[in-house]
Amino acid sequence: MILPILKYGDPHLITPAEEVDEIDDEIRKLVEDMFETMYDEPGVGLAANQVGVLKRVAVVDLSIGEDPNAPLVLINPEIIEIEGEQAAEEGCLSFPEIEIEITRPERIVVKALDLEGEEFTLEASNMLTRVICHEIDHLNGKVIIDFQTGLAKQMTLTRIKRLKRQGKWD
Ligand code: ZN
Repeated sequence: MILPILKYGDPHLITPAEEVDEIDDEIRKLVEDMFETMYDEPGVGLAANQVGVLKRVAVVDLSIGEDPNAPLVLINPEIIEIEGEQAAEEGCLSFPEIEIEITRPERIVVKALDLEGEEFTLEASNMLTRVICHEIDHLNGKVIIDFQTGLAKQMTLTRIKRLKRQGKWD
């Protein structure tokens, strides 16, 4: 089932999500719906906050459904190693038409549970690091505009107001 993606302004996006303590049918259905919603956009990552569920669940697929080995489910993800830096423009399905330059680590090691409840660690670099960091930020109630301050942030907020008036923010 394709779920509506919440846009910036919705309180779910600035609220930290809670740990998942049991992987039950509800979580399995949530993950399935999140993949369907992400592919429909299309996007390369989605956090549960963005569909109004405050659980620490994220899905990632850099291939957008092309590579059967690419889909990644991250439950209760935690970054355990960080190395280097990379800067690039970053978008978000909850911020249509907005891109913000964000510096991320170049390489991370992340620890998470899979859908079977098994803990795994994954070493990521480049784009995959960027997307995983972005989704973990969502789970912590942090969004791309939080990387901006002062005039840059004011300009983004003004753009969002204009997009809302044009009906592109619902
Ligand atoms: Zn996002």
